[in-house]
Amino acid sequence: MRKPIVAGNWKMYKTFDEAVDFVEEIQQAIPSPEKVDAVICAPALYLPTLVVAAEDSSLAIGAQNMHFEDEGAFTGEISPAMLSNINVDYVILGHSERRELFNETDEAVNKKVRAALNHGIVPIICCGETLEEREAGSTESKVAGQMTKALEGFSAAEVEHMVIAYEPIWAIGTGKTATADDANAVCGSIRAVVVNLYGKDTAEKVRIQYGGSVKPENIEELLAKEHIDGALVGGASLQPASFMKLLEAAA
Ligand code: PGA
Repeated sequence: MRKPIVAGNWKMYKTFDEAVDFVEEIQQAIPSPEKVDAVICAPALYLPTLVVAAEDSSLAIGAQNMHFEDEGAFTGEISPAMLSNINVDYVILGHSERRELFNETDEAVNKKVRAALNHGIVPIICCGETLEEREAGSTESKVAGQMTKALEGFSAAEVEHMVIAYEPIWAIGTGKTATADDANAVCGSIRAVVVNLYGKDTAEKVRIQYGGSVKPENIEELLAKEHIDGALVGGASLQPASFMKLLEAAA
């Protein structure tokens, strides 16, 4: 069975002190790593300190983005080599905010996934549809297209360690959650894409998170569904008590 994975996506929130206090407060209370993988994806500036703060716990620290090159003249960017050098374990790639606000393409996401694996960083690869796309009935073709491109050119053994996050854009930060059945149907369609590309065994191992207004009140219903293996959580990951409730519900 797939182990649930709950990842907080802090986006561009929190001061340095708040971030450190958060990790220090929860790190010893993280549920057993046999039951759930717990990840905080923090602003890049805080990562080295948070990795050290979480060192003696099973809380993993992740980045929210990175470049695909190891180094170079890319002012303002952070490389996968830099992240792995400070022991960052995860990276969110292709979040809809990066795609929509920073023009990130499917091709760039694919290169970033390749780069993450080359450096032993687990990618959390995001996909999802807009409200217009959902209303037009093109949700499944949209996410299939995004994932087909993101997963191009890997081996089955590489793909099984990846994490995919299905995040309907209309549900992010809006308080509107997809129904558990709708979210499960799309996550199932994403798993079918992985079956087509890399076979059933691989697809059974890949973990697929749902994201979009997940909170302590709705996480259990979502995680009870066959194809939903965890959650990528923005707003409800910002308070220690709320993040801990999410982990406990998943464990
Ligand atoms: P939200 O954000 O939980 O605040 O909706 C989710 C995300 O963008 O990853």
